[in-house]
Amino acid sequence: MDVSQIAQSVAAGDRRALARAITLVESTRAEHRALALELADRLRSTGRQALRIGLSGTPGVGKSTFIESFGLMLVAQGLRVAVLAVDPSSARSGGSILGDKTRMERLSREALAFIRPSPSQTHLGGVARRTREAVALCEAAGFDVVLIETVGVGQSETVVAELSDLFILLLAPAGGDELQGVKRGIMEMADIILVNKADGDLKPAALRTCSDYAGALRLLRRRPQDPGGFPKALTVSALEDAGLEKAWVEMQALTEWRKANNHWETRRAAQSRHWFEEEVRQGLLAALTAKPETREAMRAAGDAVARGEMTPDSAAAKVLHSLAARC
Ligand code: GDP
Repeated sequence: MDVSQIAQSVAAGDRRALARAITLVESTRAEHRALALELADRLRSTGRQALRIGLSGTPGVGKSTFIESFGLMLVAQGLRVAVLAVDPSSARSGGSILGDKTRMERLSREALAFIRPSPSQTHLGGVARRTREAVALCEAAGFDVVLIETVGVGQSETVVAELSDLFILLLAPAGGDELQGVKRGIMEMADIILVNKADGDLKPAALRTCSDYAGALRLLRRRPQDPGGFPKALTVSALEDAGLEKAWVEMQALTEWRKANNHWETRRAAQSRHWFEEEVRQGLLAALTAKPETREAMRAAGDAVARGEMTPDSAAAKVLHSLAARC
């Protein structure tokens, strides 16, 4: 495999080369890892940056409909749009959320768009790394906007928030007056909440839900990375293309403000540091189970703890000490 050739083609914006490059970074084979790292190093010099938008929402809320309508609107403005997914639950549902060819059919036909089906990996750490590298490849390929979608189960929102410049939470109109059980932690990550399906019979409920969330957002602690008025709640209809322009204007306004006030760079730098530390942590954990003697030491210490012969902490200290001695 000629990495320099792939790097050149990706940098020239070739979508087939980009797809191949993402396949390479998804591979877990050691020789592919080495090539993927080389590819990433070569492409770093392009220095290109996209606007990375994370989008989370429960199944059925309208994520794919929204991404298609929103993506088509951006493409109509001449912007290049890539769509990626973080979907650690795909194995459970028996298929990847973006694997279905009928999803985003119109967007996928656009020359300025690139849609990558979610891989069938189940390990969140692996999915996070693959998505992170795929985002970087899309940026190097000259995409202006990278949309990173997640179904919002477990920790995947946190992963997506750590990958994006903006984190958007998509909600459906609530039937009652409850706040749909959205966890506070997820609310705190959101930069913009979009209440979808604000059309037809659902419109009044959407407006009510939106004002409930706007109220809830005002009660959250003010974050330094926000200008006044953010985080915001807005209504949209992905089906009827309503409110999408306004949502885009707000996303751009927030981005511009953060860039002008140094928060954009600070956030990206903190994210890079986070991912570096995460890689080292994952590498250490992998090393822990790679060698038979280490596995055996872990098992023996675990047995001793289970029998009550050692406390969990002193057994861990002993294992860590012997590991450190071998480093
Ligand atoms: P996802 O599972 O979050 O990707 O949701 P989908 O995009 O597949 O949409 C789930 C269902 O909601 C589909 O039947 C869509 O047609 C419908 N839907 C999506 N957006 C809207 C909207 O803006 N208004 C209405 N009324 N229905 C919508």
